[in-house]
Amino acid sequence: MKTLFEEIKASITNNYAQDRSFWRPVLPWGGVFTIKAGRKAVSSLPLYVEIHLRNTCTIDGFLMLLYVILRENQHFPRELSLHLGREFVEGFLYLMDSYNFTAVKLLWIWDKMEKGQYRSEVRKVSLQIDLFGNEHDNFTKNLECLLSTIQESHCSDWKCPNRMQEDQRRTINIHPLQEFPHGDLIQQAVDKLFCSRIELCEQDGCSGLREFTQRVFCHGAPAFVVLNMQQWKSEELAYVPYHLDLSDHKYLLEGATLFNKEEHHYSAAFQIDGCWIHYDGLRNVNLILLNKPPEFLLLSSLVYIRAAEK
Ligand SMILES: [Zn+2]
Repeated sequence: MKTLFEEIKASITNNYAQDRSFWRPVLPWGGVFTIKAGRKAVSSLPLYVEIHLRNTCTIDGFLMLLYVILRENQHFPRELSLHLGREFVEGFLYLMDSYNFTAVKLLWIWDKMEKGQYRSEVRKVSLQIDLFGNEHDNFTKNLECLLSTIQESHCSDWKCPNRMQEDQRRTINIHPLQEFPHGDLIQQAVDKLFCSRIELCEQDGCSGLREFTQRVFCHGAPAFVVLNMQQWKSEELAYVPYHLDLSDHKYLLEGATLFNKEEHHYSAAFQIDGCWIHYDGLRNVNLILLNKPPEFLLLSSLVYIRAAEK
């Protein structure tokens, strides 16, 4: 049996100019999961027999990207199992490949999200789970320690009230730099976050110089990184780099998630063998092969994968 990924790849190869869509629904928005009650459940009367998911676009695009990343690189499932858990990775791939899309989302919600991150209530015989919100809260923050980084700094003034400092982060949130309005703004912003540097110390009453070490990943350079791009305006995104230097490793652009503010709706774009595909769970046809790379004007995030070492 072919995996979903192989099916998508085959459809890219066989596509005709007039039909650029994948023929099967993939990860549609929302979802209904029916609980098949066994005899035991009947005797104890279950609280609900259906689970209804709403506003799932805050995880859908990322789940699609995660699937493509895992299937495209044969070493990544084993490597990512170390971070996300082997059972999760195996279950995730199995459910995606068997088109159990509501179960895929429930796996993410129950295995990776905390209860306080979404609203749920029982209505008649169904459990309603609403994922309305921000996709970085619902997805990126729940990647365990995959994206954890640390940077140390120390101040040259021995009287400094806070001489040694440690800055640990679980996500990679970059900001456009005001001082360099030209060139590769995204690489510059990444460098600002990751490279060693010396700055005036910002502690009250201190006039020393603060030296920052290089920022490093706590558990080694991850298979993929998510850059949170929410702070960026469209005009700053005219150039999105396909190659990125990050903490002594080379990364390649794999995809992006896009945010439509008016509709408060997320979608995603990713590439397979250099062909760009747009995913939108709300469309009847979820996957559409694009003629050219998408415009990255409404970015929520950029997703890069680690390049193979030579
Ligand atoms: Zn200081």
